Amino acid sequence: MDEPKKNSETFWRTPLDYKEIKKRKGEVTIIEDLCKGCGFCIEFCPTESLERSDKLNSKGYHPPVFNPENCTGCGFCERVCPEFAIIAEKIEVEVK
Ligand code: SF4
Ligand code: SF4
Repeated sequence: MDEPKKNSETFWRTPLDYKEIKKRKGEVTIIEDLCKGCGFCIEFCPTESLERSDKLNSKGYHPPVFNPENCTGCGFCERVCPEFAIIAEKIEVEVK
């Protein structure tokens, strides 16, 4: 069996089902012109994957920007957005 690569997710032993393990990640789409810049999504994201952008949308608000690095696809941002400006999707990626 191939050994997993050395990284932050290195296991202390190799699980028997290592090759089938998939990590759950998320993909977030922001409909910028619906955003009113309330910041709820930024405040409630448990992985700090959203932050306020410097640019303005067509209404003059600052929409969030998404950093996919740590997003788990939990969907909190979509649920708390009062303007339905966020769509969060879960995707599964290989651990390797
Ligand atoms: S899906 Fe969850 S982890 Fe990803 S940006 Fe939204 S609140 Fe954050
Ligand atoms: S919760 Fe919705 S309206 Fe508020 S800043 Fe985030 S995307 Fe914009």
